[in-house]
Amino acid sequence: MAKIPKIIIIGAGFGGVKMVKSLYKKPVEVLLIDRNNYHNFQPLMYQVATGGLEPGNIGYPVRRIFRKYKNVSFRMAEVLKINIRKNQISTSIGDMTYDYLVMASGSENNFFNFEPVKHKLLTLKSLPDALQIRNWIFQNLERALAENEKESLEEIMNIAIVGGGPAGIELAGALAEMKKHLIPKEFPELELSRMSLNLYQSGPKLLASMSKEASEKTLEYLKEMGVNVFLNTRVSDYKDNAIVLEDGSQFITNTVIWTAGVKGALIDGFPEEAILQGNRLSVNEFNQVLGTQNIFAIGDVSAHCSNEYPKGLPMLAPIAQHQGKLLAKNILKRLKNESMQPFAYTNKGVMATIGRKKAVVDLPNFKFQGGFAWLVWMFVHVFSLVGFRDKTVTLIDWVVSYFSYDQPLGMILRSGEFKPDPAKNEIKEI
Ligand SMILES: Cc1cc2nc3c(=O)[nH]c(=O)nc-3n(C[C@H](O)[C@H](O)[C@H](O)COP(=O)(O)OP(=O)(O)OC[C@H]3O[C@@H](n4cnc5c(N)ncnc54)[C@H](O)[C@@H]3O)c2cc1C
Repeated sequence: MAKIPKIIIIGAGFGGVKMVKSLYKKPVEVLLIDRNNYHNFQPLMYQVATGGLEPGNIGYPVRRIFRKYKNVSFRMAEVLKINIRKNQISTSIGDMTYDYLVMASGSENNFFNFEPVKHKLLTLKSLPDALQIRNWIFQNLERALAENEKESLEEIMNIAIVGGGPAGIELAGALAEMKKHLIPKEFPELELSRMSLNLYQSGPKLLASMSKEASEKTLEYLKEMGVNVFLNTRVSDYKDNAIVLEDGSQFITNTVIWTAGVKGALIDGFPEEAILQGNRLSVNEFNQVLGTQNIFAIGDVSAHCSNEYPKGLPMLAPIAQHQGKLLAKNILKRLKNESMQPFAYTNKGVMATIGRKKAVVDLPNFKFQGGFAWLVWMFVHVFSLVGFRDKTVTLIDWVVSYFSYDQPLGMILRSGEFKPDPAKNEIKEI
């Protein structure tokens, strides 16, 4: 009997999950590997970070997605390196061989000049990151009321967000709403005039990959909501609990949320010529990694460069999904010695939300902003969540928040006792 080809897919994110779904009941053996046992719907992480949603609303156990898939297995493991010559990967639970390998490992934070101080920053790249932000902010609010605190109120209450992309602006908007609606109700003794929200963007516009209209409206919304937006502003250091700008000015805060850059989440062992700027793997129109025969890359970790996109396609969930779906088809075609279908990117639209009734939507031939855009944003996101429970609970939480002006979740969930250490500015493990 002929051997069934084995495909290993690294990453149960948007691209990996879509690809596995497209291989349901096909004559291949699929092994999906991820360091986490859940799929994370990253676009809504900012709501977990600000107490609007629980992690369970946006994360879904991988095994549950593929329960009925007889040809699919899942392992929770960290993939460490690849040995291309041996068709083998090394993982935290042992070595594994493949006939085809798919890198769907997404991206990770890129700290640029902030690398030396990265341990002092909060980030928004995983569910633990989002919970860390939530804990840190609510803990700071409690600390602001504690009488024995040595730091100034500004230091504890101010928040700096670095990066004006979707993650940065969505987080800034949600924090501004929290300051306006939730904090006065739950922390009435706090002097809110001593809390500033600053957003730093190195380039001239927010949401750089969206239209001028979307970017300008976002700036207008954020200003209206009380966020201090600094465009064309590079942060040069973070020391003594102060963000330092290139002109030498400072902003005192012990809360810096870094959303200013990502790079491909690579593993060791790829030839240097296949690795492009930003740690992304150079792929052709079939998502095949440069210089390899049976290795493919999809989503954020891949860069399919063209005249229109010389650095590769934007890092967006629908692109990862589209590539995953097509690659599944193409590997099956290749197994039948049929020619593969090249990937062509069609932009079906990009959107972002800034707050209640404030969103921006860029469709290929139509751009709109405001309340209707916000409704469209909500429905697209709720229906993109994986499970029926996630969709229902999220919708209910949003409806309740809309009418109550509340964020339902403000618990500081940490293992161990709550013991803030004012002498240190260390972000603690949760
Ligand atoms: C805060 C935030 C907001 C965003 N908002 C939007 C939005 O509104 N719209 C949009 O289209 N996109 C948005 N994005 C981008 C979108 O989430 C990504 O483009 C998308 O997730 C890419 O899919 P992927 O399959 O390439 O990788 P991912 O979905 O990131 O999945 C990668 C998976 O690989 C796993 N992994 C990585 N390395 C290893 C390893 N060595 N071993 C084992 N497992 C590994 C990870 O745990 C992860 O599960 C947002 C991203 C963030 C962070």
